[in-house]
Amino acid sequence: ITMRVEDLVTLKKLGAGNSGTVSKVLHIPSKKIMARKVIHIETKELIHSQIIRELRIMHECDSPFIIDFFGAFIDQGDVVICMEYVDCSSLDKNLRMTGPFPEVILKQVAWCVLSGLNYLYDHHRIIHRDVKPSNVLLDSKGGMKLCDFGVSRELINSIADTFVGTSTYMSPERIQGGVYSVKGDVWSLGLMLVELATGKFPFGDNSNRAPDSILDLLQRIVNEHPPSLKPEDGFSADLCDFVDMCLKREKERGDPHKLMLHPFLQGCETPEFKSEVKRWAKNVRRAQKGKAIK
Ligand code: ADP
Ligand code: MG
Repeated sequence: ITMRVEDLVTLKKLGAGNSGTVSKVLHIPSKKIMARKVIHIETKELIHSQIIRELRIMHECDSPFIIDFFGAFIDQGDVVICMEYVDCSSLDKNLRMTGPFPEVILKQVAWCVLSGLNYLYDHHRIIHRDVKPSNVLLDSKGGMKLCDFGVSRELINSIADTFVGTSTYMSPERIQGGVYSVKGDVWSLGLMLVELATGKFPFGDNSNRAPDSILDLLQRIVNEHPPSLKPEDGFSADLCDFVDMCLKREKERGDPHKLMLHPFLQGCETPEFKSEVKRWAKNVRRAQKGKAIK
């Protein structure tokens, strides 16, 4: 099916980020609920068709760890992407609602993110480039899926990389303009796990001095010791070690395949593990229904 502007009815706004606005919509011909992302870009029409062409790779992505894609088109100069709607929101919003995640859920986050990264790279040679809590979506069965990965070179180039807010999940080597590999996404995963485990973005307020500006933050990411989790704060030795592996300098950092074999991720495919994650997701869903999440 071809996606068209006039076939979509907006149901509610889901959020807005650096690059665009996301809404829950109904696709009338198929009666399917979808998420529509509108990205405003300032480029020539020639580039528009190239972006749409590049986004088509997403039709070929078929993995439980990657968001489904329904199509993309240009509307009044904006890029419109129609994707699967995931019913339990993104991890950033869930973190704000529930507070720090228990370790089983951190395991599930790590497992799903690494599986998604491996799928994208092994099957399509895609590097995600924007792993962060708001780009990991939770469903009510406890599944987690990646969205907003860098499929279209032209789209990446067209979105001005403005820093909004006071956090960035960019690896030191990327900040320094060096090579960008799948390992950059592993760094982002490590930083995200520290945030989800503690409830706070590292480098921010858990040190004695908060960064004064984005420039200060970038300098700290490059120059300071990477953040870590400590067993004396109640985290398992396996989790602490896993995070350390993700937050090493590029050369010593694990790649996604190697990290999948880490002791922290043992047992992620057992029925007991899956039912525990499912129970947690069910409670999250219930809490979301009780109070609207922002
Ligand atoms: P950001 O990722 O920087 O927060 P986005 O514009 O990508 O900004 O997304 C805005 C919000 O929309 C996200 O924080 C997320 O909660 C929500 N969202 C994005 N995609 C989906 C989706 N497919 N299903 C449900 N919610 C989504
Ligand atoms: Mg996003």
